[in-house]
Amino acid sequence: MAGDEKMIDGWPLPVTDDPLDREFYRAARRGELVIQACGDCGKLRFPPRPMCPACQSLAQRWQVLAGRGRVWSYTVPHPPLLPVFNAQAPYNVVVVELDDAPGIRLVGNLVAGTEAPLNSVDPATIRIGEPVEAVFVAMAEDVTLIRWRRPLS
Ligand code: ZN
Repeated sequence: MAGDEKMIDGWPLPVTDDPLDREFYRAARRGELVIQACGDCGKLRFPPRPMCPACQSLAQRWQVLAGRGRVWSYTVPHPPLLPVFNAQAPYNVVVVELDDAPGIRLVGNLVAGTEAPLNSVDPATIRIGEPVEAVFVAMAEDVTLIRWRRPLS
């Protein structure tokens, strides 16, 4: 999220030890979705940043959310793509608005499950507003990404 990244097996992965957002990645490794909240007024904000845009407080905490949301938008990336993505195209990229944090939207992929490839859900079947839930995908020892799947029940 800090705009920095590293490559592992061809995947561009985020740096997860930046003090600004490392708790997001630590929580993901635990299977939790956390969003930064202002320590004074409580307003949630994403991506993480040092100061609250509502009250200018520098106090902050991390709030555990339910990990459920709805597809707010999506797209299908087209070439040219990095080789690791090109191998799985066509696939989807979704923007998910969280149920318990209206206005907070995360970019990810809608997949069939934790171990499923990026192209495991046909983009033609995706509907704006459909419910999704977070899955936690370990990409490297210190990098767990959040993707999305359709609820099982
Ligand atoms: Zn605030």
